[in-house]
Amino acid sequence: MRCPYCRADDDKVVDSRSADGGGAVRRRRECLACGRRFTTHERIDEVALLVRKRSGHTELFDPAKLSAGLEHAVAGGAVDRGTVGMLVSEIEEEARASGPEVSTEWIGRAVLERLRVLDAVSYLRFASVYKGFEGIADFEREFVELQKTTAPKPRPAGS
Ligand SMILES: [Zn+2]
Repeated sequence: MRCPYCRADDDKVVDSRSADGGGAVRRRRECLACGRRFTTHERIDEVALLVRKRSGHTELFDPAKLSAGLEHAVAGGAVDRGTVGMLVSEIEEEARASGPEVSTEWIGRAVLERLRVLDAVSYLRFASVYKGFEGIADFEREFVELQKTTAPKPRPAGS
């Protein structure tokens, strides 16, 4: 690591601690040429998570975009912002586990699976955007589907 004071490239680490919840390491270094101390932050290179769109193009996964889409769907519904944030990180984690690339359909399904359990209104609103519903008939069909698949299904313990 090059010293910011004298530009010498010779130092020793005098202290090392984890920062940013374990996502980064903060190191205190001492320059062996001039004796001054400086700090470096080392961050783990995150593996890019890509989303393949229907057009065939890929873009970087953007949690803010997913969060905005979700918040739009749940506005006035029974799902609060904290839950939205939780859903977004859950989905991102799952996407990374099955990545490095997922499709928009994959993300849509992951969202719908969760909303279906949480709130029927939010589920239908999100489904209408995601599936590109055009008329009330689409909603009705989806609603019948919803009732079929959520009929007395016990929720797993502890969730
Ligand atoms: Zn120096």
